[in-house]
Amino acid sequence: MAHELHLDLAVLGGGPGGYAAAFRAADLGLSVCLIEQGGRLGGTCLNVGCIPSKTLLHASAVIEEAQAAAEFGVCFGSPQIDLDALRSHKARIVSQLTNGLDGLCKARKITRLIGRGTFVEPQMLLVDGKDGETRVHCANAVIASGSHPFVLPGCPDDPRIWDSTDALALTRVPERLLIVGGGVIGLEMAQIYGALGAAITIVELQSQIIPPADRDLVQPLFLKLKKRFRICTETRVAAVAAQPAGIEVVLEGKTAITETFDAVLVAVGRRPNTQGLGLETIGLSLDERGFIPVNQRQQTAIPHLYAVGDVVGEPMLAHKATHQGKVAAEVIAGRDAIFAPRSIPAVAYTSPEIAWVGLTEKEAEQQGVAYNKGKFPWGASGRALSVGAGNGVSKALFDVATGRILGAGICGLNAGELIHEAALALELGATAADISKTVHAHPTLAETFAFAAEMVEGSITDVLPPKKTGRAK
Ligand code: NAD
Repeated sequence: MAHELHLDLAVLGGGPGGYAAAFRAADLGLSVCLIEQGGRLGGTCLNVGCIPSKTLLHASAVIEEAQAAAEFGVCFGSPQIDLDALRSHKARIVSQLTNGLDGLCKARKITRLIGRGTFVEPQMLLVDGKDGETRVHCANAVIASGSHPFVLPGCPDDPRIWDSTDALALTRVPERLLIVGGGVIGLEMAQIYGALGAAITIVELQSQIIPPADRDLVQPLFLKLKKRFRICTETRVAAVAAQPAGIEVVLEGKTAITETFDAVLVAVGRRPNTQGLGLETIGLSLDERGFIPVNQRQQTAIPHLYAVGDVVGEPMLAHKATHQGKVAAEVIAGRDAIFAPRSIPAVAYTSPEIAWVGLTEKEAEQQGVAYNKGKFPWGASGRALSVGAGNGVSKALFDVATGRILGAGICGLNAGELIHEAALALELGATAADISKTVHAHPTLAETFAFAAEMVEGSITDVLPPKKTGRAK
């Protein structure tokens, strides 16, 4: 016989969107259950995404930095890499965080259900767990079921063909690794496996790596990577065959070759997990890309049913999911909340890092927005040169009509940290004068963002002031 539960809220999915919704709702006094099939909370981000990749990227950054130190007379020997120890280190960090989430869940008296949940009715879910079935009757539900890697059509089923989860498992370092997709996952993995000794080939369909970012922002990364890796832009995978000696891949386009690799990582985007949840049963329609349409309150077309995170569309980022989860919880608790940020920062944790927020220059051009641009080369920053980051760049765009910041992009060491000053400036509607007159400590990398604003103001002294760049459309 099925167990019966009656609650204010059921949350389907324990990733950053789901647990944020559950925790916030519990803090606002609602009775909540959190349904997660994987057992461990944290979703893709914590278990097989952002956190394990950042742990491994740190190891690769240490290797790279030790090698670069030779340039200023500090020489280390070749790194000795203990793959088992590195894997255990990564697992420990993930466990520390997932255990922390377990504790936070328990302290909030949230009911945990381990198993797969499906909707039977909009306010009733069936959870098929290891202890049998539970029927969850809920006044409200939040769908936060995340996404899965897109599988390249025509790829054989072979353990040498990886998705990001397989790559993060770090079972071995292949001698020759092909990475299909020059987006964030592809490049972060190239960074990791390149530092561990793999010979990397990256295939990207578009004319540049990280296609959504401005080309000038990506250029310092591209120039650095192309010295170490083979990067084939405007190239596609035409055929993949599993052979005893490796995975044979036919590439077509700007680079036309047939070559054998020891492993192939496919990182060509993700798809929402909206199948098998009973959404057809309850009459919830998806859009043409399989996402769940929601309004700014995260409400779906069905009353009392909400959705957050990767299932509602791009960008598929943990920080977007978290904010949406909190909005859903607050709306359910009767608060007047909406998800309407001016911007959501994007970060590629490569070396150098690339981060952008708000309008990119190409979007401003496509949309016919008139903007002034300030761009400061890190080669003129004392701090950047001191830490070997002179190839970076900070760029900011300002609305010609209002003077307010429209967007910003940074390429360089710690760009993923530095971009948040621009994100705050955007949320608060700052102008170039506001930013340039905010005293920044010297010498810092953060100064470069203020210098980009000074370029627009014409008050820059660290380089020659540019002529006005106002582009009236
Ligand atoms: P992505 O969309 O960032 O990049 C995929 C790349 O593959 C694109 O550049 C695309 O042009 C290319 N591509 C598509 N089909 C191809 C083909 N057949 N051959 C060659 N290239 C092809 O996707 P991703 O890197 O797989 O990441 C998936 C999601 O995970 C993204 O939504 C991303 O936002 C998120 N994510 C974010 C981070 C981060 O914020 N640092 C890290 C990892 C993943």
